[in-house]
Amino acid sequence: METAIDAKAMITTHDDIAPYMVEQRGRFIGQTSLVVLPKTTQEVSDVVKLCAEYNIGIVPQGGHTGLVSGGIPFPGDNAIVLSTSRLNKIRAIDPANNTMIVEAGCILQTIQEHAAKHDRLFPLSLGAEGSCQIGGNIATNAGGINVIRYGNTRQLILGLEVVTPTGEIWDGLRALQKDNTGYDLKQLYIGSEGTLGIITAAVLQLFPKPKEQQTAILALRDLDTSLPLLNLAQAMLGDALTSFELLPWIGIDFAQKHGQGVIDPIEGQYDWYILMEASVAINHSNLKDHFDNYLETAFEKGWIKDGVLAQNKTQSDCFWLLRENITLCQKAEGGSIKHDISVPVSSVPAFIKMANEAVQKLIPGIRPHPFGHLGDGNIHYNLSQPINMNKQDYLDRWEEVNRVVHDIVHSFNGSISAEHGIGRVKRDENQHYKSPIEIQLMKSIKTTLDPKGIMNPGKLIPVS
Ligand SMILES: Cc1cc2nc3c(=O)[nH]c(=O)nc-3n(C[C@H](O)[C@H](O)[C@H](O)COP(=O)(O)OP(=O)(O)OC[C@H]3O[C@@H](n4cnc5c(N)ncnc54)[C@H](O)[C@@H]3O)c2cc1C
Repeated sequence: METAIDAKAMITTHDDIAPYMVEQRGRFIGQTSLVVLPKTTQEVSDVVKLCAEYNIGIVPQGGHTGLVSGGIPFPGDNAIVLSTSRLNKIRAIDPANNTMIVEAGCILQTIQEHAAKHDRLFPLSLGAEGSCQIGGNIATNAGGINVIRYGNTRQLILGLEVVTPTGEIWDGLRALQKDNTGYDLKQLYIGSEGTLGIITAAVLQLFPKPKEQQTAILALRDLDTSLPLLNLAQAMLGDALTSFELLPWIGIDFAQKHGQGVIDPIEGQYDWYILMEASVAINHSNLKDHFDNYLETAFEKGWIKDGVLAQNKTQSDCFWLLRENITLCQKAEGGSIKHDISVPVSSVPAFIKMANEAVQKLIPGIRPHPFGHLGDGNIHYNLSQPINMNKQDYLDRWEEVNRVVHDIVHSFNGSISAEHGIGRVKRDENQHYKSPIEIQLMKSIKTTLDPKGIMNPGKLIPVS
């Protein structure tokens, strides 16, 4: 390996490798004898060529915030980890073209800040933005809180540079809005979870930086009013609407009990809440007036019982802190079985009701707290254990619970993974729900691009 990369860029001792092997949810521990940290695309290419020659698997790893065990090699995979952390240069920014070229290892937050310095917005935003890397975001087609306005990562990428499984470098760093010259290869790599090649750099689409923003938390009359409320926001705020998040009382309760500095701005207790945000990129807009009219109309219709409009940035940050803590504080309540599903937006309330009923029947006392991106139909349907149940007994039923929930998702023609991807954790479940022809087409692509099967072995689709 030292012919491909400097010895200093290799980690070989058990203790130093250990942090690269523990995945976010702590469910699995990876196994490898080597982590390499290339600094240039050429070094990535040299490492891949060597691995291809000796049939060694390669697991790309970015910020290591993924939630489906996609970034670690499993025992028996005979794979090394290729970390992109040192491949972290911002190569160029072109404000006039609203584009930026970045290397895969750039931290998402660094990219956002660099764009902001140029009065531009890179709108991808998620809880892990302080540590996830753009290469990982692209490989997982990350979503986040602004999808309703700006789309997934897929919609934010104009070009890619990729090292293929044979070690060739594909320079597709085109900063074009229009390019109809054949198959859109970059889209194949976006969301491929490291199974088709290593993304080394990307052209990102930037937007004008918002000049005015309004954020509110609303207490709903009931779950069913969430949909007309969303449709009303779309009608009265148009594409200024950037986020529309559903929060259940139980999540707010957990966040207040276990979170740091979390405040519920609404007095009293309601079953369901919406955290919403709208923004515009022009000065002296009348966004506030439109937002006030929207809230007034929603009150008049009886869809909301209470609401608080953030008066400044600090207050709006507090609202988002509450939202973030809904995810973080589940751990403190014992075992939590997670789902990251999507159904058509119009089916979200029906899905939640049906799934709640089914899981209660399966495990009486289970505590559902569905939350997340109602505006795009993606709900984190997480289930905390019954209060007096043994944690391990509960977690042992993970697959059984998944099947019940995913069957309901499937009945709505939904997806069992709307954001986090498939990785190793959902690989077999994905196979269960996708049609044979869809799985066959995916396998054909995999074997065409990676005939030796060295790229992230065992992830996304089964080998045989
Ligand atoms: C607190 C928290 C909040 C989160 N919120 C969201 C959210 O709102 N929306 C969302 O979509 N996700 C969310 N996630 C999940 C995670 O942050 C995303 O999946 C993120 O995009 C992963 O980026 P990463 O750099 O950490 O990738 P990693 O975890 O390192 O890798 C993820 C996958 O991508 C592959 N990969 C990584 N880099 C490359 C590369 N350069 N080339 C090819 N393949 C590569 C890996 O092999 C692996 O399969 C959250 C996670 C946490 C911990």
